[in-house]
Amino acid sequence: MRIPLDIHCGTPVYRQIETWLRENIASGSLPPETRLPSTRELAVDLGVSRITVKNAYAELEGDGLIYTRAGSGTFIAPPLDNGQLAGSRAKTDWPLWQLDATGESGPPIEMSWPFPAPADTIAFIGVGDPREFPIKDFERTVREVFARDGISALEYGGLHAGYYPLRETIARVLSSQGISARPDEVLVTTGSQQALALVCQTLLKPGDVIVVEKPTYNFALELFRSLKLKIVGIPMDKQGMRVDELEPVLQQHHPKMIYTMPVFQNPSGLCLSAPRRRQLLDLARRYNIPILEDDFASDLRYEGKALPAIKSLDDGGNVIYTGTFSKMLMPGLRIGYLLADGPVFDRLVRQKWVQDLATSNLMQHVLDTYVTVGRYQSHLRRSTRLYRKRRDALLAAIRRYLPPDVAYTIPHGGLFLWLHLPEGMPCLDLLPRALQAGVEFSPGTRYFPEPDEGNVYIRLNFATHTPEEIDEGIRRLGQVMARYRDPTGRKMTII
Ligand code: PMP
Repeated sequence: MRIPLDIHCGTPVYRQIETWLRENIASGSLPPETRLPSTRELAVDLGVSRITVKNAYAELEGDGLIYTRAGSGTFIAPPLDNGQLAGSRAKTDWPLWQLDATGESGPPIEMSWPFPAPADTIAFIGVGDPREFPIKDFERTVREVFARDGISALEYGGLHAGYYPLRETIARVLSSQGISARPDEVLVTTGSQQALALVCQTLLKPGDVIVVEKPTYNFALELFRSLKLKIVGIPMDKQGMRVDELEPVLQQHHPKMIYTMPVFQNPSGLCLSAPRRRQLLDLARRYNIPILEDDFASDLRYEGKALPAIKSLDDGGNVIYTGTFSKMLMPGLRIGYLLADGPVFDRLVRQKWVQDLATSNLMQHVLDTYVTVGRYQSHLRRSTRLYRKRRDALLAAIRRYLPPDVAYTIPHGGLFLWLHLPEGMPCLDLLPRALQAGVEFSPGTRYFPEPDEGNVYIRLNFATHTPEEIDEGIRRLGQVMARYRDPTGRKMTII
């Protein structure tokens, strides 16, 4: 272990060791249960006396940050509550520019709880199920790419809008879904999250108004907040965004962009009806406002007929469309794309260059080799079968274990079910209890522009778990709800 020491600085050496370890424990660089070197080993490593190291360890042990297990060694202790960790570096210790960076925020990035979640926690969060990923096929494809393209796949791949064959493939896949796309209108991005960021950074400036559905995708909200945009939410009903409420907002707030997810919206699972798609496009044209259409999962349809994408209704230049391979394959690939026509395309490409030069060239080569229209469609059929079963398992478990006064709309596709909780059961109260009981959900508050909204909702992802796991997870959630309602456990029994 290398700990930087300065014997001339006036701070005792044992304190320097202690402070360094404290800071690294607090930052997570030394996670719980990491084994520390013995005092003898560390003394030799650092060229100090053993008693110096012992003093440093004694201070940390006194504060409960490390512990010694007889015969095994010294370890980092499980997390303490935030107050104790923060004690290692009080807020006022930060340089002033760091303090300037505090403030401005949305909901906490990570909620922390003063207890470890059980190891068998069933988390209704995330995207797909990595256990279902065709690893063998993919491995074969990686080998094929190296054999065919050699090391060229390891270079940046040039400053352009992405690996051209992949852009052609994406254009073909989109065309097979009724969205006519030319490869030179496709920009490959590092996930569609980057596509959203590129569009906003290119077209908007701080203070501009962006219109969103209410609720909407939480990391789009994070993006808009980070760009200091003003967010105006339009409520939704079963037909998707209440487009009839949009025009007054356009007149009053003069927004610079409309962000929408017309299919299997995240988090509501709802779809924008066909007439509303046309009305939305019509308003956008009349008021000269770009539509940012986020199509993250429209392929995953379990029943019903697909409606035309807003992009496919556009006669040119009004809609920027984003898509991703994250839901179809896996999010760790980090490949998404946007489709845009008109002068804005070049500006988006330049913005992409300054952000990250290029999306992983290797992964673009691999994905292009892996994804053919045929394989894409067969993958789709398989995922659709699998996730439909899981959606149905979730619906059955909700009916079986949750109180009858929960409310939800059955999602006809996508990954999420948006659940309205019973009266007087706020999701932020429920979440720590659920975590303790080994079940996790995404609290509704994350999906609203205002932090005090959404406490009556939770979002459940049904794609990441098997039907058996879903059943068990919802059984646990049902017990948590029953106990919340009646802590004595007398009035309501959950079988
Ligand atoms: N849009 C929506 C609606 C999403 O839910 C997500 C991710 N969950 C994204 C965009 C970004 O996905 P990715 O960057 O993995 O393509």
